[in-house]
Amino acid sequence: MNAIAVREVRVVVIGAGQAGLSAAYFLRRAGLRPGEDFVVLDHSPGPGGAWQFRWPTMTYSAAHRVHDLPGMPLEGADPDRPAAEVVAGYFAAYERRFDLRVRRPVDVRAVRPGPDGRLLVETGGAVWSAAALVNATGTWDRPFWPRYPGQETFRGRQTHTALYRGPAGFAGLRVVVVGGGASGTQHVMELAPVARETTWVTRTEPVFVPGPFDADRGRAAVALVADRVRRGLPPSSVVSVTGLPLTPRIEAALASGVLDRRPMFDRITARGVVWRTPDGDRTLEVDAIVWATGFRAALDHLAPLRLREPGGGITMDGTRVVREPRVHLVGYGPSASTVGAGRAGRAAVREILAGPAA
Ligand SMILES: Cc1cc2nc3c(=O)[nH]c(=O)nc-3n(C[C@H](O)[C@H](O)[C@H](O)COP(=O)(O)OP(=O)(O)OC[C@H]3O[C@@H](n4cnc5c(N)ncnc54)[C@H](O)[C@@H]3O)c2cc1C
Repeated sequence: MNAIAVREVRVVVIGAGQAGLSAAYFLRRAGLRPGEDFVVLDHSPGPGGAWQFRWPTMTYSAAHRVHDLPGMPLEGADPDRPAAEVVAGYFAAYERRFDLRVRRPVDVRAVRPGPDGRLLVETGGAVWSAAALVNATGTWDRPFWPRYPGQETFRGRQTHTALYRGPAGFAGLRVVVVGGGASGTQHVMELAPVARETTWVTRTEPVFVPGPFDADRGRAAVALVADRVRRGLPPSSVVSVTGLPLTPRIEAALASGVLDRRPMFDRITARGVVWRTPDGDRTLEVDAIVWATGFRAALDHLAPLRLREPGGGITMDGTRVVREPRVHLVGYGPSASTVGAGRAGRAAVREILAGPAA
């Protein structure tokens, strides 16, 4: 049997989205050599992190705001181009400019404690031995599909935001969109002009917030998530801490009745969805269900490190995992936004380089 080569580096960064590239930039700026002292591993086919997979009808102007990566602003982007193309192009240029040498596609399957206080990062090919790990794997790889009774009997089409490619495939269909976040509202507004009928259902009443999502509101949202994470709980959904920004487009959709929220249905049948009411069951026949029900942190490869608390979350001190201080989670919990991910990359590198291990 051939022994798999173990390559030693000081730091492994998993994921080349906003968070991973930011960490890589600060590692390099601190004098670490890409490919020698640290490596960036990513299992996606090209640059762009999760942005490369956003549906093509999501234009750059429809994104909330893509914050700049450190050291190189994103300038002159055409607002009407797909965000997927704009961001993938920007990240590709960024990787070249700072010579970050991202290795892709490299899938990290597991990270385990190794000998001599090091971490072993197992991929399909090489095993990397690192003194510290920056995990920046985002959420896109773990779409959350809730389960409802009867779901498996539904004869129509079911899809999730992660697989949604735009409204074209829904022409003439009766569609129910599930989910009260930004993706849910965007799907409904896009589908309404082409579908035969759209219905929007959410578990809790949506909270629309007027005015811009400014720095103060951002800080308040981050503080709420940070508090949960400090207590060892899983991070809450984005919309539960930010609310839905009342943009002119949303206002128009509310006024025209396109965004007319109904409560969550109770079960699914072969032909539609059913609400239990005091007057008996009320059925709505639909041809498609779009689950805009969000994502969870993609951390399965870290399972051997046993990072989770009994509450299901991972207790953090800044970006550092309290149970495993060699591991930093960036783009997780309070830093799960393009602005937060960038800052977390810097904070993680500062801590790693200040610590004894790396
Ligand atoms: C539909 C949608 C719209 C959004 N819009 C906005 C917005 O407008 N503004 C904003 O600030 N935020 C937005 N967000 C949140 C935003 O995506 C994130 O905050 C940010 O882009 C995430 O960056 P990241 O680096 O943490 O993760 P990602 O961009 O997801 O990058 C993670 C990388 O890790 C790689 N990876 C994952 N697992 C492994 C593994 N096991 N091995 C190797 N590689 C792996 C993936 O291939 C990926 O390239 C949106 C999120 C969604 C779902």
